[in-house]
Amino acid sequence: MRIGVVSDVHANIVALETVLAAMGEVDVLWVLGDSVGYGPRPNECVELLRAGPHLAVAGNHEWAAIGKMSTREFNPWAARAAEWTRTELTPEIVAYLDALPTRALDGGATLVHGSPRDPIWEYVLDTDTAGENFEHFETRFCFFGHSHIPSFFRLGPDGVWGARADADEMVELGDERHRWMLNPGSVGQPRDDDPRASYMLLDLERWTATWRRVAYDIAATQDQMRKARLPERLIERLEHGW
Ligand code: ZN
Repeated sequence: MRIGVVSDVHANIVALETVLAAMGEVDVLWVLGDSVGYGPRPNECVELLRAGPHLAVAGNHEWAAIGKMSTREFNPWAARAAEWTRTELTPEIVAYLDALPTRALDGGATLVHGSPRDPIWEYVLDTDTAGENFEHFETRFCFFGHSHIPSFFRLGPDGVWGARADADEMVELGDERHRWMLNPGSVGQPRDDDPRASYMLLDLERWTATWRRVAYDIAATQDQMRKARLPERLIERLEHGW
């Protein structure tokens, strides 16, 4: 069983098409939220993500774009992009996003956007926060996004240990004494100073998770964003990866 894990696509269709082509055939795609917001092609990204077998959860940007949460806590650029997204989404895509759960279960894995404790809003960036969150899901694995940082946390007899994941890094998941929280990084707006799109491959025969990075045509996305009059700050950040 080969699973592709993506998060924070953020309506970046050029990045998403590049990632799916690089990923190759998978049995199922896990989508950890924030498929819309910031970027120029929200409807197309959702269509592509749900075109094949997939399991998806909602993120804060889905909720903001369909009016399920206010954009008061968003920074001004994110709020403007959310308002723009709201005017773009087709009624059919709105209905799909509205029906997404905030937590999904598949076999031994829990899927959330932010954290198992607070799936829509909490960021898991350090071992203390991760340690508390291990109490909020029952499966051995939790996959999460939201921070846009490819990373992992492992709970074992030696406590909680975490690290950022480099490109092509692989971790072994077979040891049953360990529980894991794993973040594939962001497809459409990476924030770890590497502008390449980030995703993860799970191999459930070998029990491994591997992070991958792939360069995409950033200028093409930026061009689409300028045509949509999205905030310049959001356009620029893509080439720097922050
Ligand atoms: Zn996001």
